[in-house]
Amino acid sequence: MFFYNDCEEHGGQEAFVLNSCYLCARPFFDDSEIFMYRGDTPFCSDDCRQEQIEFDEAKEKKKQKKLVSMRKSDSDQASPSSDVRPGSSIQVA
Ligand SMILES: [Zn+2]
Repeated sequence: MFFYNDCEEHGGQEAFVLNSCYLCARPFFDDSEIFMYRGDTPFCSDDCRQEQIEFDEAKEKKKQKKLVSMRKSDSDQASPSSDVRPGSSIQVA
């Protein structure tokens, strides 16, 4: 027997509808022009959106820079630093 209950705690989706600018929080009105970014982030103006885009790009670049520098220090550590040649005998007086 299968029971289908109407979920009473349904309705979380409404919370995702933004009615103000993501950057400066200026509220939208019925005649407001809305500039969307990445499909679900609204901005009141192209300037606000552009700032968010630049912020995201800077964040991406930082992430990539970090990855590159981490890789670099790894190869530095891997460089041979041993002076002992294999086969040579060490005499201690
Ligand atoms: Zn704005």
